[in-house]
Amino acid sequence: TETLHIIGGGMAGSEAAWQAAQAGVPVVLHEMRPEVGTFAHQTGNLAEMVCSNSFRSDDDEQNAVGLLHWEMRAAGGLIMEMADRHALPAGSALAVDRDPFAEDVTARLKAHPNVTVEYGEITELPTEGHWIIATGPLTSGSLAQSILKETGEESLAFFDAIAPIVYADTIDMEKAWFQSRYDKGETEEERKAYLNCPMSKEDYEGFIDALLAAEKTEFKPGETAGYFDGCLPIEVMAERGRETLRFGPMKPIGLTNPHQPDVKPYAVVQLRRDNALGTLFNIVGFQTKMKYGAQKEVLRRIPGLEKAEFARLGGIHRNTFINSPTLLDDQMRLKSRPNLRFAGQITGVEGYVESAAMGLLAGRLAAAEILGKPLASPPQDTAMGALVRHITGGADAKTFQPMNVNFGLFRPVDGLKGGRRGRKDRYKAYTDRAKAAWQQWLDAA
Ligand code: FAD
Repeated sequence: TETLHIIGGGMAGSEAAWQAAQAGVPVVLHEMRPEVGTFAHQTGNLAEMVCSNSFRSDDDEQNAVGLLHWEMRAAGGLIMEMADRHALPAGSALAVDRDPFAEDVTARLKAHPNVTVEYGEITELPTEGHWIIATGPLTSGSLAQSILKETGEESLAFFDAIAPIVYADTIDMEKAWFQSRYDKGETEEERKAYLNCPMSKEDYEGFIDALLAAEKTEFKPGETAGYFDGCLPIEVMAERGRETLRFGPMKPIGLTNPHQPDVKPYAVVQLRRDNALGTLFNIVGFQTKMKYGAQKEVLRRIPGLEKAEFARLGGIHRNTFINSPTLLDDQMRLKSRPNLRFAGQITGVEGYVESAAMGLLAGRLAAAEILGKPLASPPQDTAMGALVRHITGGADAKTFQPMNVNFGLFRPVDGLKGGRRGRKDRYKAYTDRAKAAWQQWLDAA
């Protein structure tokens, strides 16, 4: 059997190695640490958790990340098995004792007869053989340059600049309205790609005050090299002058409020459709380093967003990721070089759990291909399928930014109430449907 090489022994690479090895494929896992470090990693262990020790919610009936836990457990995932073994009490969240967790992942992989761990940095994209690139948000500089040469400059980012994403059905449409600026767009669909929230002078001044006062997070030392190319946080814009936003992302021109056609808004917050399903909208130009609590408070001051729920909050981080919607096929292969797969955070997912999940998938898909029994990508209705479809096709390539798993990525279940009221039933219906579909996919493999 041909060997599968994996670059990067983080969350994604470790899980990918485990899955392929369990399927009977020989794996070489290449990890640069401890020889070459990053500004965030502290050890030479595989699957090191670099910051928080949380795998977030473990509720597999009402939470999309909990559902992803369930799917990975059902697939015999190593990361989940070790997280469960080293779980710490944390209510409905899954918190992990990080050092024993990472030591155990390392030991289990090293003990596997099909796995060899090779230490050292891989500095160039390989040309021959089967590979998975899972080098994460802090991919080493020389490998990043080599990826950039293959993908082109506009398809590899070194920072994310994430604008908050809102569930469409939590926006108050008595205040907001659909319209593209100057009614641009050929089709009804294109004109409906934007939602607008109007502000009076009073709203605007209050919003600026709240923004300036909000608590912000700081960059880590060593994190900021190359920062500030066209992704200023809104609070930094506001610091430059109280009117800056009104002449920037919040300019009120080219728009007419159908709820109050005679009143010219003083400022307008625009939201852009974020996925093909139309269930998610991002707030245009609102990348921010406000802390999560402060962010919700400030954003809910926007008329129409008073009751907004967020599929993900904004952020700006050092983060190497590729433009997966244009570069990858639904098997996570690089279209231009299908012997290379990508997995983990570098594909534009965000978080330990999502990264491990994409590793699990890439490992299984690669192993199946090597064994001559190619696997279809998992169904859309699973958490795994919803996430991989989002990054490899559902997301808008032009504005692509990293994504957490969330129910906004799921197709609606027929006959259920939308909005806040039906939420509990809706989420249960999503998770029931997902579990059945995931089990079927596993059984078919
Ligand atoms: P990683 O886990 O980073 O693994 C990539 C591996 O590749 C690393 O071991 C690295 O050493 C190795 N590598 C890189 N380049 C090479 C090369 N050229 N050759 C060989 N090996 C290489 N997520 C959360 O869920 N919660 C958090 O609190 C959180 N905090 C974060 C804080 C920081 C500062 C950063 C940068 C990220 C944070 N993340 C957090 C995101 C987190 O990094 C990812 O979710 C997750 O670790 C990504 O998994 P991965 O496998 O894609 O990458």
